[in-house]
Amino acid sequence: MTLRITNIQHFSLHDGPGIRTTIFLKGCNLKCPWCANPECISSEIQGEFGYDISLEKLEQEILKDEPFYETGGGVTFSGGEPLLQINNLESLLKSLKNKKINICFETALFVPEKYLKKAKKYSDEFIVDIKIIDPKNCKEVIGGQINQFLNNLKLLDLEKTTFRIPVTKFSLKDTDLILDLLKKYKPKHLEIFELHNLAKSKYEILNKEQYYEKIENNRIKEFHEKLTEIIPNTEIIEI
Ligand code: SF4
Repeated sequence: MTLRITNIQHFSLHDGPGIRTTIFLKGCNLKCPWCANPECISSEIQGEFGYDISLEKLEQEILKDEPFYETGGGVTFSGGEPLLQINNLESLLKSLKNKKINICFETALFVPEKYLKKAKKYSDEFIVDIKIIDPKNCKEVIGGQINQFLNNLKLLDLEKTTFRIPVTKFSLKDTDLILDLLKKYKPKHLEIFELHNLAKSKYEILNKEQYYEKIENNRIKEFHEKLTEIIPNTEIIEI
């Protein structure tokens, strides 16, 4: 069995607790115009972007980092949308679980419910992006059905979940909707982050256009303050 990935990042510090190994899986069913990993959107191999790796080889790579997991770390499956390859991943997840390695999924949650249920069997942590709640914008801008996201949200164990919000003109416009959602679903942790254009050269190679916008600091501050009224430990992170 193989997985299609773009990168294995060792010593990641922002993809869950402790020091982690992050696996970037290739293929996503959304099209966020600010995506920081545009090479992970298509499931096809695109020149230098993407390769297939056997589960055995991937597990060997992961186990090289095992000493660092004593920091409370482990493995994070990111992408792309990692849950789209959950069936191919399952035997690796079983093996990591047997070795008591902490498993995290970073997901946008726009996936069939059965994929999420399978991931839940093995996962210790979820990082869930909250991008756009307004149904029309959600469909038009990122290509997602918000009802699918909202239904999946109900299945999460919030004690094990971090929400992560990219600060865009769309999330700012949806502030009240996001606040309502947070009142209903309180995650253990909430993070927000500003967009960056560090992926510019990847967009150029892929011949795609990137959406980038600098949001004024006072608007970020105001958004952060509103969020902390509901989730006091809301953190502004750089990724
Ligand atoms: S869900 Fe993530 S990987 Fe997919 S397009 Fe959006 S930002 Fe990129």
